[in-house]
Amino acid sequence: MNVFDPFAFRQCFPFFNDNEAGSAASIYFDSAATTQKPQVVIDCLNNFYQQQNANVHRGSYQLSAAATSQFEQARVVLQAFINAPSIQEVIWTKGTTEAINLVATSWGLNNLKKGDEILLSYAEHHANFVPWQVVAQKTGATISVLPLTRTGIIDTSKLNSLVNERTRIVCCSHVSNVIGKLNPIEKIIARAKQVGALTLIDGAQAIAHYAIDVQAFDCDFYVFSAHKAYGPMGVGVLYGRKSLLNAMSPYQLGGEMIKKVSLTETTYNDLPFKFEAGTPNVAGCIAFAKAIYFLKQFDESLNVYEQQLVQYCYQALKTIPQVRFLVEECPDIGIFSFTVAGHHNQDIASGLDSFGIAVRNGHHCAMPLMEYLKVTGSIRLSLAPYNTQAEIDFFIDTLKKIITNYQLSTDKRVLITASGNEKSMTINSDNILALFSSLKGWDARHRQIMLLSKKLTKLAPEQRSQKNLITGCESKAWLNVSKTVENTYIFTADSEAKIIKGLLVIVLAAFNDKTAEQILAFNIEDYFKKLGLLSHLSPSRSNGLNAIVKKIKSTVKEL
Ligand code: PMP
Repeated sequence: MNVFDPFAFRQCFPFFNDNEAGSAASIYFDSAATTQKPQVVIDCLNNFYQQQNANVHRGSYQLSAAATSQFEQARVVLQAFINAPSIQEVIWTKGTTEAINLVATSWGLNNLKKGDEILLSYAEHHANFVPWQVVAQKTGATISVLPLTRTGIIDTSKLNSLVNERTRIVCCSHVSNVIGKLNPIEKIIARAKQVGALTLIDGAQAIAHYAIDVQAFDCDFYVFSAHKAYGPMGVGVLYGRKSLLNAMSPYQLGGEMIKKVSLTETTYNDLPFKFEAGTPNVAGCIAFAKAIYFLKQFDESLNVYEQQLVQYCYQALKTIPQVRFLVEECPDIGIFSFTVAGHHNQDIASGLDSFGIAVRNGHHCAMPLMEYLKVTGSIRLSLAPYNTQAEIDFFIDTLKKIITNYQLSTDKRVLITASGNEKSMTINSDNILALFSSLKGWDARHRQIMLLSKKLTKLAPEQRSQKNLITGCESKAWLNVSKTVENTYIFTADSEAKIIKGLLVIVLAAFNDKTAEQILAFNIEDYFKKLGLLSHLSPSRSNGLNAIVKKIKSTVKEL
């Protein structure tokens, strides 16, 4: 076994070229959402479109034949990667989501009926929940759900009772995208077989970390996306047992999936083409094979390094008393989900973002899991082997700083300027603009927004009602309005998240004490632009801001 060199690995990714490990420039801790792409994958995509672009399976010219050959060769690479018995069992899809939808539609809708059961687990991504829910609604089948142990894996002690003669299919993740724990899929598959139920394994989070052998697993379907294993977005694979795929009807209809079409009748193509209607993502599939080659050149030492990083991060997070992990024990792969006591997830995530650290916050497309674990969401940090201990150190220091800073500055009386000086001033749009005019960079602006959040007076519980809720905000936010005798409006607002509170202060500064005409005429876009906010806010947060403004404007129109 060689010694894995994370810095050499990192250098394969142009994304990191300008970013020193551990600097505040850009620390990418969201590889569970999508990994960065190595140069070889980017080059492969470029080369295809620059020099080899032609559609596959159609042209009688050399260019098309060459594209077809590369495309089919990529399928062979993927077949070997998952040890599928036949090339006909490797279906290209857009990704995990499409692969699951394909099985749910083509197999589920045609094979399930009232009295049948679909067995899922609480740890499933919405992609492995919603399609089955709809199939259940349409066929009359019911959904049962496997519970989890305290450490977050599927509880196999419940297998015997939950997998029974009514169970027709068991669908579960190989590794949860929230918990990062390896599920005992071999046991689950074996139990499903005892009752003749099919099995679908969602391998989206597993393929970049574990050897996949569908023959050894003996599952019926295995699905995954390229973009979570250094490949491009918009490509994925459905492995399916040939006998099942042959018996299933096509998912989409059109070109490529047919053998013969007459005015009245169509005969379908053989596998795998029967399930590949339309022009596939040819460049993406070829580049996915390149990503697999890339990954395979590193031996076991890559996994050893990943494990060291996981342990290092887990131990470091454990030193922060406010950190609460969603489940006990260290995760199996680098996915850490936690909350920070006394702080809203969004505030922590946006605070880290202001220091250039990218982590996720929210429900991670796993709302049933959030409900099961009795949390509204979590912060998720996910690692890949291009991350380093220095980055983790920087993250831990930053997180500690964010936690303590928030705790220290609780003075609500005065407006605190970004330089730390306290200044008494009326909060109106001119003063807000003046306050922001000297700020450079998102880091400073973010700090100022957090300071402003302290200026928002808390709304009484009865004012935080469903009626006052602003829909479209990332976190819950409420707005109240009253009209003065001078026909001006007074707005008060509140939110669960400090970052939204700060943004509310900024928005209300522009609209408070104004008439309806002034409110409707105010150019909010220009205001945000002058404040330097537009380029830094994520689309969801911009949507939240727009939702607040929309609510204010619609309210004054109604009153
Ligand atoms: N399942 C799991 C476990 C996932 O992590 C994801 C992606 N977050 C998906 C399914 C959906 O994958 P995609 O968006 O690539 O279709």
